[in-house]
Amino acid sequence: MNPALAGIGMTSQRTRARMIDRLRAKGIANETVLAAMAAVPRHIFVEEALASRAYEDTALPLGFSQTISQPYIVARMIEVLLSGRAGLGRTLEVGTGCGYQAAVLGHLTRDVYSVERIEPLLAKARQHLSQIPGIQVRLKHSDGSMGLPEVAPFDSIIVAAAAGRVPPELLQQLAPGGRLVLPVGGNEQYLSLIERTPQGYTEARLETVRFVPLLSGVE
Ligand code: SAH
Repeated sequence: MNPALAGIGMTSQRTRARMIDRLRAKGIANETVLAAMAAVPRHIFVEEALASRAYEDTALPLGFSQTISQPYIVARMIEVLLSGRAGLGRTLEVGTGCGYQAAVLGHLTRDVYSVERIEPLLAKARQHLSQIPGIQVRLKHSDGSMGLPEVAPFDSIIVAAAAGRVPPELLQQLAPGGRLVLPVGGNEQYLSLIERTPQGYTEARLETVRFVPLLSGVE
């Protein structure tokens, strides 16, 4: 076993189980989502100095002024994407960050694409994800506010950074019956769930949230 993992291996299984208990207590009920969250070792995705806090239900810094999302938010967004559907299908994540959420998505569908605009972060994500056996996530260095037209349409799109308004490209790249979940707003943000129906798009506003901003261009 990788020594970095063995060091906290004695407690990580138990602390991960406690994280799942907390997610349940906060209202996450989808067992498929909870099982995927339980399967991903979050400590691999955070800086070594923060590894002991990896299973707290909080966002943590990951460098470049970005944060690894709070486990509850990851679970909640995936739960609303899945709700009432058999699976996520072809999925696009915008904002790979350290790759944590991409790993959870990779446990739920074989067809995941994730894009990140900051190249060194993507390199970290690639390194982290290579340590997770049995999942396949395709990563790309690009501006995700444009979606990923070359592999669209998507059954599910999940955005990990807040947009001032919903990017039209993401709406266009939804398959019929497809769902997009994203934080919308500036200082005050809410989670929006958009579905493409035969009649057009429907939107449901969910809880208030706090995300880093969706920026344009790459670096
Ligand atoms: N999914 C990550 C969360 C990362 S934070 C996790 O599992 O914890 C949000 C990420 O979105 C940051 O890494 C940021 O660089 C990225 N981001 C912001 N705007 C973007 C854009 N237009 N395209 C792609 N990535 C973007």
